[in-house]
Amino acid sequence: MMKTYHGSCHCGGVHFKAELDLSAGTSRCNCSICRKGRFWKAVIPADDFELLEGADELTEYAFASHSIRHLFCRTCGIKPFGRGEVEPIGRFVAVNVACLDDASDEELAAAPVQYEDGRNNRWEAEPAVRSFL
Ligand SMILES: [Zn+2]
Repeated sequence: MMKTYHGSCHCGGVHFKAELDLSAGTSRCNCSICRKGRFWKAVIPADDFELLEGADELTEYAFASHSIRHLFCRTCGIKPFGRGEVEPIGRFVAVNVACLDDASDEELAAAPVQYEDGRNNRWEAEPAVRSFL
């Protein structure tokens, strides 16, 4: 079910809201940054995301093709979301599902997880080993 969720970093400097349907799926990836940050994401259209507070608390990190801007709080280091633009989905926000303050434990536990082999640029394929992600 589509819902409006509110999320934040750890220190509370960054607040956002996002329209998303957790039951429609979330994803985890084995690429270099998702593996190290244990990023658990829901990818939504950029228009369904609103940064409510903390624009100047966010620090941006980009690497490789710079097609995705990873944003993290300069005080607490938590990455609440990333932004990017790729075909065919257009401008998107990858919301850190773990930062959603009003998602219940039951909703989080029930959210389907798709695994992506980002390390090998096979985003549609599941990695052979994924239980550690
Ligand atoms: Zn913070």
